[in-house]
Amino acid sequence: MTIAGNVDTFGEIKRVISREIPAEAKLTKVEFEGPSIVIYAENPNFLIENSEPIKRIVREIKKRVIVRADPRARKRIDEAKAIISNLIPAEAEITDTNFDEGTGEVIILAKKPGLVIGKGGSTLRDIASQTGWRPTIIRSPPLKSRIIEQTLYYQQNENDYRLDFLRSVGRRIHRPRVYNDSWITISALGGFREVGRQAIFIQTLDSKVLIDCGVRPGAQSYTDEFPRLDISEFNIEELDAVIVTHAHLDHCGLVPILFKYGYGGPIYCTKPTKSLMTLLQLDYLDVAVKEGKPTPYGLREVKKELLHTIPLEYGEVTDISPDIRLTLHNAGHILGSAMVHLHIGDGLYNIVYTGDFKYARTRLLEPAAATFPRAETLIMESTYGAPNDVVPTREETEQQLIETLRTTIQLGGKALIPILAVGRAQEIMIVLDEAIKSGALPLVPIYIEGMLQEVTAIHTAYPEELARELKNRIFHKGENPFLSEHFVSVDDKSARPEIAEGGPCIIMATSGMLTGGPALEYFKLLAPNPNNTMIFVNYQIEGTLGRSILKGLKEIPLANSAGKMDVIQVRMSVKSIDGFSGHSDRKQLLKFVNNISPRPKQVMIVHGEESKCIGMADSIRRFFHVDAMAPNIGDRIRVK
Ligand SMILES: [Zn+2]
Repeated sequence: MTIAGNVDTFGEIKRVISREIPAEAKLTKVEFEGPSIVIYAENPNFLIENSEPIKRIVREIKKRVIVRADPRARKRIDEAKAIISNLIPAEAEITDTNFDEGTGEVIILAKKPGLVIGKGGSTLRDIASQTGWRPTIIRSPPLKSRIIEQTLYYQQNENDYRLDFLRSVGRRIHRPRVYNDSWITISALGGFREVGRQAIFIQTLDSKVLIDCGVRPGAQSYTDEFPRLDISEFNIEELDAVIVTHAHLDHCGLVPILFKYGYGGPIYCTKPTKSLMTLLQLDYLDVAVKEGKPTPYGLREVKKELLHTIPLEYGEVTDISPDIRLTLHNAGHILGSAMVHLHIGDGLYNIVYTGDFKYARTRLLEPAAATFPRAETLIMESTYGAPNDVVPTREETEQQLIETLRTTIQLGGKALIPILAVGRAQEIMIVLDEAIKSGALPLVPIYIEGMLQEVTAIHTAYPEELARELKNRIFHKGENPFLSEHFVSVDDKSARPEIAEGGPCIIMATSGMLTGGPALEYFKLLAPNPNNTMIFVNYQIEGTLGRSILKGLKEIPLANSAGKMDVIQVRMSVKSIDGFSGHSDRKQLLKFVNNISPRPKQVMIVHGEESKCIGMADSIRRFFHVDAMAPNIGDRIRVK
C-alpha cells in the first residue's frame, strides 16, 4: 500500500484559503457543502468587488468555491425582501421569494429570470452585496408543476437535514486518498446484453460509484426486474456516489431502494432529471399499488432521495470522491438526459458512458455531445444497433404519423398513441400542434392522459435545456407549443368511455409499452373497432404487452374494472413508427464512434438485446480497429 501525496485534504484547503483571503473580508469560517467549498465572511462584498483572491484559490485547489455572508452580516429577511423588490424590475414578474437561513440563500421565482439576473449578472451581484443573501433564480413555469412546487416546499422544511448531509458529503469527498496504485474495474450489474434495469458499478482502490439503477419493465421475477445488487463486490454502505443519467425508469426506477438498504450518500443528476425522476418513481409506486403488486420501496425513500440529490449543470466538473471527477454532458435523449464523463486519478484514466443518447437533432433537444477532454473507455448503448435498425428521417417519420392519423380520422376512428411520458410525448405534441396549425391534420381534440400534463409542465420550467429552435420560439416569438389550445387534459378517468365512444380524436396516454396506465384502459375500449388505430412510437421491450401486440397477438385476456378476466379482441390496426426514437439508430451509433473525440481505446456495448450488443461490438472492432466487447451481467472487467 502506498500513501498518496494528497493536497486535497480539508486542512490543506483551509490553509490556502486563510493565506489568500485579505483581512478586510473578515473570513469567519470555511465549510464543505457537497462538492463545493463555502467561504463565510463578515464582509463578503470585499470578495465580490475584488475577485482576484477567489480566482487564485480556485486555481490552486481546483474546487468550486462559494462565498457567503456570515449570518451576522445578513440583512433581516423583511429588509432583504424590500431591497430585492427595489432592485428587480417589475417586468421580471417575481412570483415567490424564499429565504434559506441554513445556507444564506434566497430563492427567487420569477417568470422572466433573465431580468432578475441583470446584464452580466449585475442585479444578482447587487442583491448579494446589498442584502448579504446569495440569490438563486428559478423560473416559475407557465404551467403549474405540482412536483416542482412540492419538492421545493419539502426541501425548505428539511433545510437542517440537507445542510448536515451536504457537509458530511463534502468531508467524505475530501478524505485523504489511501492508495496511489491504478486499479479500475467496471462491473455489469444490469442492462448488459438486455434492455432494462441499467446499472454499472465502477471501482477504484479508493472509491466506488454506481451509475444508474433501473428496473426492467415486463420482467417476470425480481431476479430479472432488478439489477444484480447482490453480487459480492457490491456493498451499498461503501458507495461514494450514485449518478443518474436520465429519468426513464429503466435507469432510475430503483434508485430509492438504495436508501432502504443503507445508502446515505449523494445522487448526482441534472435539475430536470431530479424533477422528472421523482415524478416517475411516484407513478411507479402508484401503478404497483393499483395492480396489487408489492412495492420495492416507499414514499419515505423517494423523499430521502430528494434531499440527497445534488443537481449539476452540463459541463460542470465536480469532485465526487477522493479520486473521481464527474462531468455531465448533453445526451439529446430526453429533457435533462446526460452522458457521464469520469476523470479518475490525476490524469490516470477516463470513462465516458453515453447513457441513452440521440446523436442527431430532434425538435425537442440538441444532439448529444461527442467531444470530451479524454476518453479511454467508452460505454455505449445499442438499443437500435442491429443492421436492420435503419430509422427513416424525421421528415418521413412525421409524414408517416400524420398520414396514419389522417386516415384514421377519415374513417371516423380514434388513434391511440401509447407513449412514454417523458420525451417522445413532448416531441409528438410539437409535431401534432404544428400539423393542426398548418392544416395537415383536421382539427380534432388531442387528449392528453396520465402524467403527460405534469411532465409537460416540467418541460416548460426548463426551457433553457431545449433545442435552440424551440427555445427561440418560446423566448423570442412567444410561441410555446406545449401551451397550445389543441391539447385537452383528461383529469378524470370517468371521461374515458365517453372519449372512446365519441367522435374522431387522438389520445396520448402512458404507459408506452402497454404495461399499465391509462393507455391500457383505452386499449381495452378501442381494440375491438377496426376503424381505430394504435400507433407505437417507442421501443417495445421483450415481455411487454406492447411487444406481443406488435408481433400480432389478437386475443388478449385482461382483467376488467370488476377484476374479472375479459378476452380483448384486437381488431384495430396496429402500427409502429420508429423514427421518433430518442435513441441513435445504427448509423448514428457508428457515426458517433467515428466522431467521438478523442477516440477511445476500448468500447463496451450495453443496453441492447444480446444479438445487437454482440453485433455492434463486432462491427466496431472491424470498422474502427479498437477493442470492443459486449459484457454480460455479472462480468467484472479491469480497465486499468
Ligand atoms: Zn431512456
